[in-house]
Amino acid sequence: MKQTLKTNINVIQETIENHLPAGNEEPTVVAVTKTVDEKTMRDLHALGVKHFGENRPDVFLKKYENLADINDEIQWHFIGNLQTRQVKKIINDIDYLHSLDRLSLAKEIQKRAEQPVNCFIQVNVSGEDSKSGFQPDALADTLKELEAYDKLNIIGLMTMAPIDASQEEIHEYFRFLKELQVEVEQSNFTNAPCTEVSMGMSQDYPIAVSEGTTFIRVGTAFFKDAL
Ligand SMILES: *Cc1c(COP(=O)(O)O)cnc(C)c1O
Repeated sequence: MKQTLKTNINVIQETIENHLPAGNEEPTVVAVTKTVDEKTMRDLHALGVKHFGENRPDVFLKKYENLADINDEIQWHFIGNLQTRQVKKIINDIDYLHSLDRLSLAKEIQKRAEQPVNCFIQVNVSGEDSKSGFQPDALADTLKELEAYDKLNIIGLMTMAPIDASQEEIHEYFRFLKELQVEVEQSNFTNAPCTEVSMGMSQDYPIAVSEGTTFIRVGTAFFKDAL
């Protein structure tokens, strides 16, 4: 099983190398561990994986506790919808939040965080009603407002492509997010260096890499045939 994990890690690594634009640095790979237990996470860690992504506060807390002995070598990413009342439970234990999708969440983080939290603003690039996140044309106003929130460090933008998008459409959505990121970075908002992009999951991370992402969030591709 660990052997299969190793094979999958190698496949992901090779796929990244094959799609990386010339001159780009390799993106940080977040292993989305929401479907696996601590045993598998320890195997991943032993194979060199240091970034874990979770999407449920209670599951994250349980794993965080059970992996306490290796915790200082792990970066924890919270990638899912975060309810306002759950913020205080996890905000001081995570290293990155990928899903800052509304102002009320920012407000609660400002109230509960002891140190600035690395956040990605989630952007709804496709404009689908069902998707959470800020509309692209609301970003500038949002960032202006967030300048007063010194417990947020906006390190980048995050998105998810619609599940029914074609390869070509996914390219367009990801290219668009990258352009938005550069625009925000160049606007020099306070508390928003915005140098990073979080996009690409098991189905579409090769496209995200080719469009210059700096973080990918991959679950299924790690655990295929390994459990
Ligand atoms: C589950 C999840 C992922 C990983 O999805 P896979 O298809 O398993 O790679 C990435 N991002 C978010 C927000 C998720 O919820």
